[in-house]
Amino acid sequence: MVEVQLDCRDPQRHLVGVRLSVAPRQERLRLRLPAWTPGSYLIRDYVRHLEGLQAHQGGLALPLERLTPASWELVCNPTEGPIELSYGVMATELSVRTCHMDAQHAFLALAAVVLELEGERWSPHRLQLTLPSGWQAFVPLPADDQGGWCARSFDQLIDTPIEAGPHQPIAFAVGDIPHRWVTWGGCAGGADWLLARFPSLISDVQQVCLRCCQLMGVERPASDGYLFVLHLLDEGYGGLEHDDSTVLVYGRQRFEQPQGYRRFLQLVAHEYLHQWNVRRLRPQELSPIDYHQPAVVPTLWFAEGITSYVDQLLPLAAGLSSAADLLLDLGEDLSRYKLTPGRHVQSLRTSSQEAWVKLYKADAYSADSQVSYYLKGAVVALCLDLHLRRDGASLPLVLQQLWRSHGRCGRGYSEADLIQAFAHHSPALATQLPAWLEGVDDPDLDGYLFDVGLRLEPEMGSTPWAGLSLQRKEGSLVAQRVWRDGPAERAGVMVGDEVLALEGQRLRQPAELAEVLQADAPQTLLICRRSQVLPLRLQAQPPAVERYRLVEQASISAEQREAQRRWLALDHGRGASPTAEALATA
Ligand SMILES: [Zn+2]
Repeated sequence: MVEVQLDCRDPQRHLVGVRLSVAPRQERLRLRLPAWTPGSYLIRDYVRHLEGLQAHQGGLALPLERLTPASWELVCNPTEGPIELSYGVMATELSVRTCHMDAQHAFLALAAVVLELEGERWSPHRLQLTLPSGWQAFVPLPADDQGGWCARSFDQLIDTPIEAGPHQPIAFAVGDIPHRWVTWGGCAGGADWLLARFPSLISDVQQVCLRCCQLMGVERPASDGYLFVLHLLDEGYGGLEHDDSTVLVYGRQRFEQPQGYRRFLQLVAHEYLHQWNVRRLRPQELSPIDYHQPAVVPTLWFAEGITSYVDQLLPLAAGLSSAADLLLDLGEDLSRYKLTPGRHVQSLRTSSQEAWVKLYKADAYSADSQVSYYLKGAVVALCLDLHLRRDGASLPLVLQQLWRSHGRCGRGYSEADLIQAFAHHSPALATQLPAWLEGVDDPDLDGYLFDVGLRLEPEMGSTPWAGLSLQRKEGSLVAQRVWRDGPAERAGVMVGDEVLALEGQRLRQPAELAEVLQADAPQTLLICRRSQVLPLRLQAQPPAVERYRLVEQASISAEQREAQRRWLALDHGRGASPTAEALATA
């Protein structure tokens, strides 16, 4: 048993006091702080927030030898009683995967807070919190009888996000499983603001959760008790999944937009579905998780792409949005995909494998050299779903099968397992799916969309195309993006160049570029790089496709109409959805 005490009584200092206590098993004990948190594939070096680490045993200080920036070793006497470790963690970074504490609330991502003690990873960890008066803590762990909580292992402990403050939770159930919803809203109010605008929020969330269960072919969620934490900020968007909880961040400004509430329900669906897909139905490379170095996971496209695709269908299938909304949302994704040149450079498998160094470290050139495994993963998920439907099956059916064969028993899956599961229902996918994963050519999107009576309609721009986007930065007009193989790149423009004038006309706003551009003859573009003014020859191209819209075909057959109806309803295809009882005996 490891005892963990977190002291949050002085939130204005943003310093969390941490005390760990453990009875040593041997004369040497190694301590390590995780470098990252699952679901967010970036080495974050949480140790940069740790200070003042001390170790004591029987009242005597024990010397600590630092082995790496985030690990230490101490020598102790196993018969002298427990080792007490104490340190502070600065909580000043507000995100779903870092710690933040001020006078209004505390949010703790425990991967950033609790040291992993050698030999104790699978031991129970008991958690105690000390809070300012009037605050309560929301902790997705079983409560113990001493006012604290108990995690069965280090893994369960650091999969536990903690939100604390004077917040009022809302309780509801999905199946017979208790759920809690807690909103922290900064200065401008949280739950009150939200519920005044969206009185049906909780029942809508409940419907989305139920629809997720149906999708997975079960009557209740995988978790025994689930916590939603919402950080309602002025701006922001994101979420992080856990076994028994999720932390969402969403901007008030987004809620005010026409599609804002629908997109929020999609975010809820996405993170809730992760309690199956990626948390319990998990890639073998993350079974178990190494918290101290990156793991190359070739199947992140399945974890995130499938989830991103289905999250748009779930609110619709729950009766909370319309088919027209779905065409709009899916059309935006397909448009973004088709306008990402990097999809012809980086394959979907490589994108998954390179998450740590590319997707999470995107820069101005990323769109030309890489493709997000969320985005292309969702495109491939759409193609998989529609392909399976040609053979009387569906993506939901394969998800349910994988849940039964791997998720429920905690068996990590390999890429080969996924291919086999898809090919079981549709033999052609045994070669087609690997081609989509390895190749950089587009799947036959038009052919699949035709099955359900849809097509992608290109919309042309109205002005010549320079392959250049501009932004105002510190009073200057600066090249924000330069398309690979585009006119601006050929002219010699680089991201970060100051753009001064085109054809003798001073440019001051991004929109002024299009007003002066001509495609019929080269023009002189004046830029400034490292204080040197350079004249470049820019030959713009005729207007290019600006975006694609997903629309219905002019005429749709009854067969296409029925296929569309079944697809949008997340119909399982072959046979009915198995009941929980049937699954229990499967
Ligand atoms: Zn996700």
